[in-house]
Amino acid sequence: MMRLLAAPGSKTLLCLLALCLAFAVNAETESAGRKQVLTTIKPLQLLVKAIAGDRLDVEVLLQPQQSPHHYQLRPSDRARLANAAQVYWIGAGMETFLARTALALPAGQLQTLGKSLAVAGDHDEHDHHHDHAGIGSDPHLWLDYQQIVQMSEAIEQGLAVLSPADAAQFAANRQQLVRQLEQLDRQAASEFLAYQKRGFIMSHAAYGRLLAHYGLVGGVALTDEHGQVAGAKRWQSLEKFMTEQSPTCFMRDPSEHQSIEETFLQRYPVQVIDVDTMGVDISATADGFVAFYRNVTGGVAKCLKLAEGVESLKRNGDGE
Ligand SMILES: [Zn+2]
Repeated sequence: MMRLLAAPGSKTLLCLLALCLAFAVNAETESAGRKQVLTTIKPLQLLVKAIAGDRLDVEVLLQPQQSPHHYQLRPSDRARLANAAQVYWIGAGMETFLARTALALPAGQLQTLGKSLAVAGDHDEHDHHHDHAGIGSDPHLWLDYQQIVQMSEAIEQGLAVLSPADAAQFAANRQQLVRQLEQLDRQAASEFLAYQKRGFIMSHAAYGRLLAHYGLVGGVALTDEHGQVAGAKRWQSLEKFMTEQSPTCFMRDPSEHQSIEETFLQRYPVQVIDVDTMGVDISATADGFVAFYRNVTGGVAKCLKLAEGVESLKRNGDGE
């Protein structure tokens, strides 16, 4: 508390009051400028940060190694959710752990980026025979070029509501992001052209949208797009795939089942390429998302290039 020791003239007092007021207003705008935005997972933190730039603090709820498919909300998470000015998530089809809590958040605080996504539990629980059957409900929207562009638009609008004074900066940041992503996308598309039929194995069906976008059709995964381990039927088709196509590369996901990966790799000692689909190794800066996308497409390309000699094997195996 500030105390006035001498009794100053009324003019001086007014001046001091004005000064105090100015300080108070200044402190308020400063804290308003540092309003905290919370995202559920690291890739979303990177995407929001790319648009927010240095104007807002963008935090993340889960550690990047934690699988959002199997996470459980802790009491400390609830406090962080309540204190955030805005919370960005994909939706109940992805962060099932947040579904009930999210509904209780005030409108405007919760920003759902995957509005069109089917909710988990809507899909039938039977063993999917085809690996690309669930692409519409595949919640890994941050690995889908078109969805990334759409989400960035929703984020720009959301942030502009939160901090209208920075709206022009958010728009400029988004423009730059999209320009950089367009360039990366073109590069990746031309690089993947030669490998569209290459067979490969993935630990987790996180890449369905990315693979579909680039016309890569030869992948089979050990866990489905909701992180569920393959059932007996799926293992059967996986073994058939291994025999027929002899894929030589395994894309390992940072957040998924290590035990099933080990079981598989003991049986089929193929080469492992880590693809960082959760942005574990990417620093949370405004450039982070572009680095993340480059890293993921680069990892997939590396894996596909390793898979040599598959074309001829595939031709022989197709007749079965
Ligand atoms: Zn996943």
